[in-house]
Amino acid sequence: MDKPAYRPETLALHAGWRADPTTGAVAPPIYQTTSYQFQDAAHAARLFALEELGNIYTRIGNPTTAILEERIAALEGGAAALAVASGQAASAYAIQNLARAGDNIVSGTDLYGGTWNLFANTMRDMGIEVRFVDPADPQAFVAATDDRTRAWYVETLPNPKLVVCPIAELAAAGRPLGIPLIVDNTAAPLIARPLDHGAAIVVYSTTKYIGGHGTSIGGVIVDGGTFDWEAFPERQPLLNTPDPSYHGAVWSQAAKPLGPIAYILRARTILLRDLGAALSPFNAFQILQGLETLPLRMPRHCENAAAVVRFLSGRAGVTRIIHPSQQSGEARARADRYLTGGQGGLLGFELAGGVEAGRRFIDALRLFYHVANIGDARSLAIHPASTTHSQLSPEQQAATGVSPGYVRLSIGLEHIDDILADLDQALLAAG
Ligand code: PLP
Repeated sequence: MDKPAYRPETLALHAGWRADPTTGAVAPPIYQTTSYQFQDAAHAARLFALEELGNIYTRIGNPTTAILEERIAALEGGAAALAVASGQAASAYAIQNLARAGDNIVSGTDLYGGTWNLFANTMRDMGIEVRFVDPADPQAFVAATDDRTRAWYVETLPNPKLVVCPIAELAAAGRPLGIPLIVDNTAAPLIARPLDHGAAIVVYSTTKYIGGHGTSIGGVIVDGGTFDWEAFPERQPLLNTPDPSYHGAVWSQAAKPLGPIAYILRARTILLRDLGAALSPFNAFQILQGLETLPLRMPRHCENAAAVVRFLSGRAGVTRIIHPSQQSGEARARADRYLTGGQGGLLGFELAGGVEAGRRFIDALRLFYHVANIGDARSLAIHPASTTHSQLSPEQQAATGVSPGYVRLSIGLEHIDDILADLDQALLAAG
């Protein structure tokens, strides 16, 4: 499908698939198969030699999953995508595809807790150092960079702070050094477009808004196709030196006949082959089903969240509201620049009554679910100080943006009057 010809609403329904050639089935079929019959010996040899892309084994690729990959790449304006078993796998592979033991990456401090753990502990145990800096300060990224730095990593709209990072400035500072910017855009699909601002790679937890219905864990890595890996042979050795695990392939060269997809080709061919976090075809189907209505859902999430912000403003017992619309200065300017499709479905607020008020509020909710998730069609709430952040000291909680009375809301698609009525009665109960 010709990417520029269609708008997001159309791509979400059509990119990557047009009726099954054998049966005429319109909905993407679930190809629940592990392996694929080769046409003949020569065909098999061509596939293994990467002279032709095709199905070999579902750990490395699957036709249902391929529709999801093509659709997300089209929506994101990227060259190609790789779907994996979770958002965590997407973040890990995005780094491991460039960095190995002895290398490092520089990351913004404002991260999903699971990513923080991955970077601060598991990556370190693998020999990959992650250097944490202020995500709003491109010069801090430059200062933390040395010869072994392979990538920079940020989240577009990290919670709980919900402060947008300067994507274009970071991308522009990294490119001349041969350093790609990897952006986790999980909280802002469609409403922010990191590749348009120079990011090289985008990762998603499709578990959240993209799947949208809280049924299926998944992740995806999108290769923008615009980063010149070949121009930086010393900075990016994994893409520019012979790979002994694939008969000496040099990925920046091997990918050339297939398009500007060296990065994602290596991730599929090496990381999925060896580490194996493949998405199941059933989950790919579920996520595709969600993706079809994402362009309808995201604006409603944003509208409902904005209405909740208005409702909470000036409300007794609510001392602070955390949402891009409440920011000022550079943070606000970045929100206006990058969140072009709405300001997101997440918000936080602080209760004057601290931890106890937070607990009472959560226990009084009737419509909102109390879960450690975001981006569901249903409204969700959590009180981080007594749950996700309870193992941190008060100082550490403060550093991550969590105060004792902080409540995080992921606003869903219910009627706004019902959302507000539930919040109203829970706030009264919180006291
Ligand atoms: N990135 C962000 C911003 C997230 O919020 C999450 C999960 O909450 C992840 C990554 C990890 O995704 P998953 O739970 O699909 O592994």
